[in-house]
Amino acid sequence: MATAKNTRSAEDFLPGELTYPALVKAAAGCKGCDLYKDATQTVFGEGDIDSGVIFIGEQPGDEEDKLGHPFVGPAGKLLDRAFVEAGIDRNSVYLTNAVKHFKWKPRGKRRIHEKPRASEIQACEPWLHSEIILLRPRIIVCLGATAAQALLGSDFRGQRCVGSGSRRRMRNN
Ligand code: SF4
Repeated sequence: MATAKNTRSAEDFLPGELTYPALVKAAAGCKGCDLYKDATQTVFGEGDIDSGVIFIGEQPGDEEDKLGHPFVGPAGKLLDRAFVEAGIDRNSVYLTNAVKHFKWKPRGKRRIHEKPRASEIQACEPWLHSEIILLRPRIIVCLGATAAQALLGSDFRGQRCVGSGSRRRMRNN
């Protein structure tokens, strides 16, 4: 199915210098697609930028949108349990999303998660790519199809993890 080309993108909001603080500051003002309009704030990636390991989710949820931090809502709690079972210290990895603003639709008083369109994932890609270039990860874990599509293209189907370089065992500090 053909997807309408998005003429706007985060590309226009990238900072002149590629540092983590510069990316966070610049992303806070991003208007690369319309998702910023109904969201509270940009939720940029957080964690150990020197870890060499990036976990990528789809987009921030309701609680992440309010608090401004990734993976602090129900999905984050599920991920925390998975980290504990896998013996991974959450603080020893970097967590981010393919799309940095919360997309939602109203249902009564609640804000219900809505899957971002391919054009919105594409518009937000410059942030994710900048994070990857800056962090130079050896391992990238895609938490779902949207993250994989952001990395591998919109025709990606199914669940798969991709990594660059050798896998390494992560231990608790
Ligand atoms: S979703 Fe991404 S591209 Fe769209 S406004 Fe937010 S940060 Fe910018």
